[in-house]
Amino acid sequence: MSRKVIIAGNWKMNKTAAEGKALVEALKGLVADVPADKADIVVCPPFTTIAAVGEAIKGSNIKLGAQNIHWAANGAFTGEISADMLKELGVEYVIIGHSERRQYFGETDETVNKRVKAALAAGFTPIVCVGEMLEDRESGKTEKVLFTQLEGGLAGLSKEEMAKVVIAYEPVWAIGTGKTATPEVAEETHNFIRMTLNDMFGREIGEGVRIQYGGSMKAENAKELVAQRNIDGGLIGGAALVAESFSKLIHNALLG
Ligand code: PEP
Repeated sequence: MSRKVIIAGNWKMNKTAAEGKALVEALKGLVADVPADKADIVVCPPFTTIAAVGEAIKGSNIKLGAQNIHWAANGAFTGEISADMLKELGVEYVIIGHSERRQYFGETDETVNKRVKAALAAGFTPIVCVGEMLEDRESGKTEKVLFTQLEGGLAGLSKEEMAKVVIAYEPVWAIGTGKTATPEVAEETHNFIRMTLNDMFGREIGEGVRIQYGGSMKAENAKELVAQRNIDGGLIGGAALVAESFSKLIHNALLG
């Protein structure tokens, strides 16, 4: 089954509104040649930068994402952002359960699940992050950890809902460290994720779900990674913060 490549930039806590606007103004021209039917190009700025970036990318092939979403429609949730607030800004994608949220902000599979359901109900495409810590991999627990995250994070989703979800496999030991999983190791793990999705939702759904790789992906390794059967794109941190490097990465990924 052919799955459309999806490359998303996770800007994390980087770029003011003015800096973000300048980045996408430069990026627009560099990726204008990428046909919309070949790849989804997404940028996920911090909340305060979304509006300026949304304005700047109007009419381009770059889509807008956010880095989190709350499950409630509104209310006493200091520091959180609702679906309607993101909708109004033109957001289409939402990163959920990033390992930094899990490590530093108490995100659990249960809260991931609530956010995924809220995102789907509002019509967003959730990018659900899963990934093992270094000690999990070294002690042979990678599959167990990923299974638990997938089972918990995607609990109660219908097949129709699952068909709209993107999974990002991000080995925590590879995020921002310069250490990338080799294409073979990444593919083996992506294949495990796909088999798990096939078991949970049936082959007709599992085979269609796009699974991004994330963890020190850059222009130099994007082609080899995306060439793997079960790697359908990337979730990019550091390399997405400079227009030229993000554009190169996107073009190289499309050769894979
Ligand atoms: C990320 O945090 O989603 C990520 C993949 O970061 P980096 O590309 O910098 O490793």
